[in-house]
Amino acid sequence: MDNSFSSADLEFQQEVRAFFESEFTDELRERVQSSSDVKGTAVEWQKKLHAKGWIAPDWPAEVGGTGWTPVQKFIFDAERCAAGAPDVVPFGLKMVAPVIFTFGNDEQKQKFLPKILNSDDWWCQGYSEPGAGSDLAALQTKAELAGDDYVVNGAKIWTTYAQYADWIFCLVRTGQFEKRQQGISFLLIDMKSEGITVNPIHTIDNHHSLNEVVFDNVRVPVSNRVGNENQGWTYAKALLAHERTSIAGVADSRRWLQEIIELAKSQTNAQGSLIDDPTFQNRLSDIEIELMALEYMDLRVLASLSSGETPGPEASLLKIKGTEIQQALQELRMQTIGAYAGTLKAAQYQNDLHARGYESRRAYMYGRAATIYGGSNEVQRNVIAKAVLGL
Ligand SMILES: Cc1cc2nc3c(=O)[nH]c(=O)nc-3n(C[C@H](O)[C@H](O)[C@H](O)COP(=O)(O)OP(=O)(O)OC[C@H]3O[C@@H](n4cnc5c(N)ncnc54)[C@H](O)[C@@H]3O)c2cc1C
Repeated sequence: MDNSFSSADLEFQQEVRAFFESEFTDELRERVQSSSDVKGTAVEWQKKLHAKGWIAPDWPAEVGGTGWTPVQKFIFDAERCAAGAPDVVPFGLKMVAPVIFTFGNDEQKQKFLPKILNSDDWWCQGYSEPGAGSDLAALQTKAELAGDDYVVNGAKIWTTYAQYADWIFCLVRTGQFEKRQQGISFLLIDMKSEGITVNPIHTIDNHHSLNEVVFDNVRVPVSNRVGNENQGWTYAKALLAHERTSIAGVADSRRWLQEIIELAKSQTNAQGSLIDDPTFQNRLSDIEIELMALEYMDLRVLASLSSGETPGPEASLLKIKGTEIQQALQELRMQTIGAYAGTLKAAQYQNDLHARGYESRRAYMYGRAATIYGGSNEVQRNVIAKAVLGL
């Protein structure tokens, strides 16, 4: 495999680097790090990307995508991470949009896609329910036909950023069949609809990103159903594969690795610098080797995606390895920063190490969830066993 960049790629890399340098300002960076205004900050940054035409690298060019090659996408992501800029919020741009432009009708494409591109609508994902996480086909939220509407009753849980959302895309039960997957439909629901309640769930990282969303006789126009009734599972499956490939987070892991190396160089005691400690070096190089292997797998999947294929079990491999590496890095970063990880809030910052300590602890705490969301890693191993080993 030839992994050197062409001269056009190198030129593109310079253009991307210059864009991040001028547009991802220190002020934006501080707001991202302090998480003080999650929605306002994300929308402001995403609008800048949209103005440049770079908001949707994974969309086909004819609906607003960049038309980049896999290598350009790789370069963009690597530069984004090197600049410390956040990825886009995935629920609209990376999750529901591919379902709409692949399976939606023209009216739905015209209504929803421009507002997703311009970050005017904030989306959340309503799949999981109290009794339906790994076993998603057990979902019970019901949508019953009443004239031109469905009437939706039930509850979704772990709904990330539902408190900010204008819309929620939901899997709902519209039929009872022997095969449970057959009675599921894919609905787009306006969060301002009467009968929706959002209840917050506070997590171990001391933040509020998760919610329960309750539906009590919520009326949803039939025209908001994507594709055919009772075929939502097929559309959702295509989306889940995309979700798993983007969870791999190779470029972010590379940035963390770099940050750990810099931190370790600056941590010294009577024996010298932490970076010279053989135990630390072993740990670091183990993770780096794993990350390099993941990077190549990611490139292979990107190449097959760009030639129109839907990722299969490779998506599960990426999800498992990607999240395990993220967690290993989060742990090592906590150990490297040592006592500074005890910084509990931004008000306690006295220097940059306090800020990094706070951020390290938060990432470590929230990062425990990475092996659960997007389909738990145990369940991904089942997917691989079935598809690759035929078990
Ligand atoms: C931070 C976070 C954000 C999330 N955001 C969203 C969101 O925005 N929208 C949304 O719809 N959902 C979201 N989820 C939900 C997520 O998709 C589910 O938590 C996940 O699918 C697991 O389901 P569960 O929590 O019900 O656990 P369960 O399915 O009850 O699993 C419990 C344990 O049993 C194991 N297990 C279950 N079945 C098997 C099996 N067959 N073989 C082996 N082991 C098994 C699991 O691996 C897990 O360890 C989020 C979750 C988290 C933690």
